[in-house]
Amino acid sequence: MMNLSTVIACGCRYRTPPINQLLNYTPFLHLHLHLQGRPPSFNNLNLPNFNLLPTGNCLFFRMERFWSGSGINKNKQMVEHLQRYGVISSMKVAEVMETIDRAIFVPDGTSAYVDSPMPIGYNATISAPHMHATCLQLLEENLQPGMHALDVGSGTGYLTACFAIMVGPQGRAVGVEHIPELVASSIKNIEKSAAATLLKEGSLSLHAGDGRQGWPECAPYDAIHVGAAAPEIPQPLIDQLKPGGRMVIPVGNMFQDLKVVDKNLDGSISIRSETSVRYVPLTSRDAQLRGY
Ligand code: SAH
Repeated sequence: MMNLSTVIACGCRYRTPPINQLLNYTPFLHLHLHLQGRPPSFNNLNLPNFNLLPTGNCLFFRMERFWSGSGINKNKQMVEHLQRYGVISSMKVAEVMETIDRAIFVPDGTSAYVDSPMPIGYNATISAPHMHATCLQLLEENLQPGMHALDVGSGTGYLTACFAIMVGPQGRAVGVEHIPELVASSIKNIEKSAAATLLKEGSLSLHAGDGRQGWPECAPYDAIHVGAAAPEIPQPLIDQLKPGGRMVIPVGNMFQDLKVVDKNLDGSISIRSETSVRYVPLTSRDAQLRGY
């Protein structure tokens, strides 16, 4: 059964700390992750590289955060931080993340612009801003106007909305999520966002279903994003990728890698690992509601 601290950590990049830091600091970091903040004495500690705040909640991983605290209170500032820390280098990705305000998608009362995943209920999370930015950049070339994009495990609908803006009214952005309540709330979120017209006019749609089967009606896809970690890459998703298309999918159980899967023009598949990550599992609805 996942505890709250594990859930909070899903949807972010991870690094394995050097063993000496792990032994020296992990109990301290544990304590303060649970308190959800930094103690006044934190800056006095001789911890390296504060650009990547170590906020690990597990012996073997450190969650990457490019900033912490709730000092950032505007969506534009959040995007500027992602640019400053080198997470966003593409103007298109910066533009779309400025257009779609993250505050609409996080639960009421949570800090929208902290670089951290947030629980959204049903044992799911909205991914951290740096993870959304990373996936958008990896898929940018496959999110050109007129292209088709599939967002599996669409959760809050944040990335589906970004995809819809990028592929535009002539394109198609489809979200598939297996918790019907999340589908309903993602539709409400998008209705309040800059992607509302695309939803109304039909180039953006959100569906309840098992995303491991993809969404054949709008296949093949130029871009597929999977927002939950699969033990292995589901074959229907590979089948629904267009030649020249790209899928970004976290793969693994406890140790997960964000895989970039390219379908070459001859139909062959190339796969590489981008970074270590921690996502909630791509699983059955029952397993998820039971707490995995
Ligand atoms: N990109 C989303 C991530 C949500 S977390 C966001 O940032 O808002 C992952 C989501 O995958 C959860 O909402 C979970 O309910 C969903 N999920 C897990 N397994 C699934 C499956 N088999 N089919 C569809 N959705 C799934």
